Amino acid sequence: MTSSFFPPHRTLMGPGPSDVSPRVLGALSRPTIGHLDPLFVKLMDEIKVLLQFAFKTGNELTLPVSAPGSAGMEACFVNLVSPGDKVIVCQNGVFGGRMKENVERSGGVAVMVEDEWGRPVSVEKATAAFDQHPDAAILAFVHAETSTGVRSDAAALCNLARERGALSIVDTVTSLGGIDVDVDGWGADAVYSGTQKCLSCVPGIAPVTFSAQSVERIQKRTHKVQSWFLDMQLVMGYWGGSSKRAYHHTAPVNALYALHEALVILQEEGLEASFRRHRRNHEALVAGLEAMGLAMAVAPEDRLPQLNSVLIPAGVDDAVVRGALLNDFNLEIGAGLGALAGKTWRIGLMGHSSNEQNVVACLNALEAVLGREGADITSGKALLAAKAVYAD
Ligand SMILES: *Cc1c(COP(=O)(O)O)cnc(C)c1O
Repeated sequence: MTSSFFPPHRTLMGPGPSDVSPRVLGALSRPTIGHLDPLFVKLMDEIKVLLQFAFKTGNELTLPVSAPGSAGMEACFVNLVSPGDKVIVCQNGVFGGRMKENVERSGGVAVMVEDEWGRPVSVEKATAAFDQHPDAAILAFVHAETSTGVRSDAAALCNLARERGALSIVDTVTSLGGIDVDVDGWGADAVYSGTQKCLSCVPGIAPVTFSAQSVERIQKRTHKVQSWFLDMQLVMGYWGGSSKRAYHHTAPVNALYALHEALVILQEEGLEASFRRHRRNHEALVAGLEAMGLAMAVAPEDRLPQLNSVLIPAGVDDAVVRGALLNDFNLEIGAGLGALAGKTWRIGLMGHSSNEQNVVACLNALEAVLGREGADITSGKALLAAKAVYAD
């Protein structure tokens, strides 16, 4: 007989999922009701309004796709890209590479603008790409590159797309709730996110929002969207404004209770207060890591507060340290990805995980494990450096 599964209580300080608040876990366990129940339809309406608040948008077409962040990405590409469309894709990490795949699988032509991993997307290079390809219909980029911990200038990039008569597709999976995501202020057109990063909800849902211009582009399509499930014209019949909802798929009812609760928590705290909390815990963590003698991988002005890339000190075995943190301290941090595999650790301070207790626990555990592994670090200084930031 297979017995029930009881996971341990880990502290999640990797690139997602982040720690889920007990309030969100509580919401998840409430009684399941029908996905066309009038009370559930009311909940859906509230989720739409809460997502508009989180994205800072008045976009009518704002909803949670019933699948993870990658499906949010795919929803934006398959609906906006038709065969033959040219899309400028900015890549400065793992997720830009997935955007290229999405363009090509939608029959489009990807024009790549490549930047070094660990550096933001260059607005100059993107501008030059439009000069060379004035017929490009879309500009796509990642606001917060989780593979490196770098923030790019979304306002400038969306503005560039507008100036060139193109639409923008923006990945805000890691940014939403942690740093400013200003969809209407940026003039962004198709924006997707995830639930398990700074919203600290369970994984498996992808908030998306589409501007009026992008909805117009979708309505003018002459080629059917290649994905039935992600075709927004069909999804709109279920999530649309009118009270008569047509069955499209069975919504993940309980997961949406959880998303609703996570967004209520965000609203209670306030967006600006959440951004300040993420910044402060980031500053304390960095102060502690640097006092230990570790170096950050990203320049201070480009860093994401919710995803901290640290260079692995020479002679230290990446996997041994992460394994010890997990097994001896119940603490998960992330490995480097792609070009940074084996070179960096990624320490997440996302959503509910972004708190002083986690910063302290992480610095203590890392200092203990690195000391045991014989790494050349300074002991006894990290905690005081972090505490000094909080006392400030
Ligand atoms: C995590 C992440 C994704 C993918 O989200 P999943 O929920 O894992 O599918 C996409 N883009 C970025 C920037 C991410 O951090």
